Amino acid sequence: MATVPAIRLNNGVEIPQLGFGVYQVPPEDTADAVSTALEIGYRHIDTAEMYGNEKGVGEAVARSGIDRGEVFVTSKLNNGFHRRDDALRAFDQSLGDLGLEYLDLFLVHWPLPGIDVDYIETWKAMEEIYAGGRCRAIGVSNFQAHHLRRLFSETQVRPAVNQIEVHPYLTQEELRAFDADHEIVTEAWSPIAQGKVLDDPAIVAIAERLDRTPAQVVLRWHVQRGDVVFPKSVSRQRMQENFELFDFELGTGDMATLTGLDRGERTGPDPDTFNYIPG
Ligand code: NAD
Repeated sequence: MATVPAIRLNNGVEIPQLGFGVYQVPPEDTADAVSTALEIGYRHIDTAEMYGNEKGVGEAVARSGIDRGEVFVTSKLNNGFHRRDDALRAFDQSLGDLGLEYLDLFLVHWPLPGIDVDYIETWKAMEEIYAGGRCRAIGVSNFQAHHLRRLFSETQVRPAVNQIEVHPYLTQEELRAFDADHEIVTEAWSPIAQGKVLDDPAIVAIAERLDRTPAQVVLRWHVQRGDVVFPKSVSRQRMQENFELFDFELGTGDMATLTGLDRGERTGPDPDTFNYIPG
């Protein structure tokens, strides 16, 4: 079984660079999908309260019999729980739904700049959660540099990660560099743009030449850039394919070709305008 490299976060905690994401995996299918991922060798699961499938993730981790310390579990604070007391309760709820005693990483899912709760209050609640010892690291998702700068000047704990949309059509050079300059690991969500980049002729040509699939080429590009990725699939064959990234390498020319496909194209919402709160 291939060994997935670990990346050290700014507080010393290690995160497997490749994980399994469960966004849009229906709750009733989640335990089976995560069990398959764990069988294949994934040891990092990315879920969120918003996905409604934390119970299935917890069920699969429990039934796997794998030591808790060997599986890295991330969840996220849902929109609508940004006030301090709501955030503390939401964290307890996530742990309860997952059936876990602690989380490896808890993230603020979105900054929600237009709501009537300042995300500084939310981050201070995250600091309390971290200080409580039931979460090994805290971080943010969908934060832009200007959101992060406010955290740096108004709060104490530096986020360990920033989970943002990144793929060849949205390479995020600037924000990734900003994260790195501030010892924040970038996690790339929708790493294959939900499949949209897989028939790009430049990617297909590299895949054919290297006798790999387009998904493997794109995921390998992320890995070589140093980001953390957790592609989503419910098919065992694709999950297996997406796991096989550590026995080949892209040359500098191929890396540059993929990076050159950037067109600033999001598949998801813009964090500067997204203020959605689930009903
Ligand atoms: P993704 O880029 O991982 O693409 C998933 C889609 O690609 C699915 O339709 C899947 O069937 C298909 N696919 C997967 N592997 C394939 C392969 N080898 N060949 C062909 N098709 C393949 O998109 P995603 O699920 O949006 O993102 C991955 C994870 O990122 C999510 O599951 C979630 O954990 C996280 N995420 C976070 C946020 C956030 O706001 N923080 C937002 C979106 C996603």
